[in-house]
Formats: sequence, C-alpha cells, structure tokens
Amino acid sequence: MKPVVISTWKHGVDANKAAYDILKNGGNSLDAVESGVKIAEDDPEVLSVGYGGLPDADGRVTLDAAIMDWKARVGSVICVENIKNPISLARLILENTEHMVLAGDGAYDYALKNGFKPESLMTENSLKRYKEWKASDSSKPEEIHTDDFVLAKKKDINADGNHDTIGMVAVDKSGKVSASCTTSGMAWKLHGRVGDSPIVGAGLYVDGEVGGAASTGRGEECIRACGSFLIVEMMRMGLSPKEACRAAVERVVKLNLLSSKNRDHLFQVGFIALNNKGEYGAFSVRSGFQYAVYSGGKNILYDSEYLIDEEYIIEDL
Ligand code: ASP
Repeated sequence: MKPVVISTWKHGVDANKAAYDILKNGGNSLDAVESGVKIAEDDPEVLSVGYGGLPDADGRVTLDAAIMDWKARVGSVICVENIKNPISLARLILENTEHMVLAGDGAYDYALKNGFKPESLMTENSLKRYKEWKASDSSKPEEIHTDDFVLAKKKDINADGNHDTIGMVAVDKSGKVSASCTTSGMAWKLHGRVGDSPIVGAGLYVDGEVGGAASTGRGEECIRACGSFLIVEMMRMGLSPKEACRAAVERVVKLNLLSSKNRDHLFQVGFIALNNKGEYGAFSVRSGFQYAVYSGGKNILYDSEYLIDEEYIIEDL
C-alpha cells in the first residue's frame, strides 16, 4: 500500500503528518522526508534534534543531518552550528553541489551564502539541562562516555530522552523511496564527535530498486555495522523489512561484543525500514524504541520488537 511514511520515536507522529500531507497529494518522497523531519527540528520540546537539542560537553549545539533519494542522490552536513534546519541544508547540497558532505564552518558558510539565517539553538530548557549535567558527577571526563544504559540505571538521565534522532523513510505513490535523518547527536558528546546520522550507509540508506532504512541510538555501534546499508542489502536478498532490521540488530550486538572494552553494558540502537512496495518494519537492541507509521490514512505509534531483555547479561546471548 502506497504512500507510506515511517519514522523514529514519538516525535515521528507529527513529522509523519507533514510528510504524508505531501505524499497523499501526489508529492514525491524527497520533499516528504525533508518537510517531515523539519517538524522535529523546529520543535523546542524535542531535545535531540535541531532547535532545543542538547549540546555537547563544551555547551555547543552541533547538528548532523543527511538526506538520500531513489536516484542515490545524497546531501549531508556534519557538526554544523546555529542553523535550525540542517536537513534543508543537506537538501541544498544534494540539489546544488557536486559534493555530498559539508562539515563544520564550511557547512555553516554555505548555509549563510544561501539565505539561511544564523540563530542560537539553545533554549532555556537545554541550557538548564546542560548546567545540571555540568554540575553532576557524570560530567567528569572519565564518565563522559559511560554507556547510556548505565547512566539510565544510575537515574542520571533518561537514556531514551538523551538521544532520539529522527530518521524517516517514505515511499510515494509512484514507488519512489527517500530517507532523511537529523540529530543533535548524543548529549554531552565530545566537541566534534559525529554519530551515524549524517553517514550514508549508517544513519540512512536508500536503493531505489529496493527501499530504504534509517537508524537511531548509539551511533558508534551503527557505524560499525553500516546498519542502514546492511538492511537495504538484506531486503534486496528477500528479507522482509522487519527481518532485515532484526538481522542488522543482531550484527550490531555481535560487533559490539567483539569490539567493546566493556561488556557489562547494554546500549540502544533502533532501525526502521520500508521497501518500495510499501512494506515496513523495525527492530531494536533493547526495549523502549518506538516508531511511527502513516499508512492507509492512519498514523500509528508502535512499540518496536527488540532483541535483548534488560535483565539478561549480554554474555548470555
Ligand atoms: N544516532 C544518533 C547519534 O549517535 C543519536 C540517536 O539517535 O540517539 O548521534
């Protein structure tokens, strides 16, 4: 059934509405995934995307975003500051340049040259949260990379509120698929840290012959597995979107076990996928991941299936 739009987390519901408005009127999926995620970028209540996103360890709000369409056209921006809609900057790179990725000052300069207005992205709430974090034990250098699950257990932060990138995949009436991903990244990250969201193949991927995928969660683990690319390739080999997401989650966990210095933790990664027939699915490492699907005129928030119960210790797998 087409059109369909799927996106990550609860804020995906409003984002889906904006995307579906475009799709139901015969608009294309590239316009839909740009307009959809802009809703989350503009929303100061969303603490992990755009305006109001939580800053890095230096108190700087640095944004990553990427967009990809069915013709394998890509635009991506990395670590850009003071630009409220990095997804539209990524779209501009896709449309108007020979390049795919602009980073930092270069991305910012390109934005200003093209009419984007600089603005502070810190809100009263994000500043307050930053100051609280700065005053807490967790801001000690050796703790900065403590796993989000461990932090959540310590009740320092709500792990799921700490990193909720919006990723979106849409298929339009004509079966063309596009994807987008935009984030302020992991809260309190080292300045300059880049996660999976702007990395093609990790945070998102589209193959027009197959479909697309996007991710959220601990970006380092997704990058290691080329998560979104893996999902699209597994859909190409015949797996359903949900089966492909599950297989990618298993790969992510396996590679984490192989590479991790600290095995007694449990991180979160969640994937969404949609093929060009309009079939969709999702899967995550642990519980708590939600995704929103607008299909057949209904916009529904689902709890994702997941691989690991938090009570288990990871060596039991
Ligand atoms: N994947 C994002 C990152 O690692 C954060 C998130 O989705 O929670 O930057």
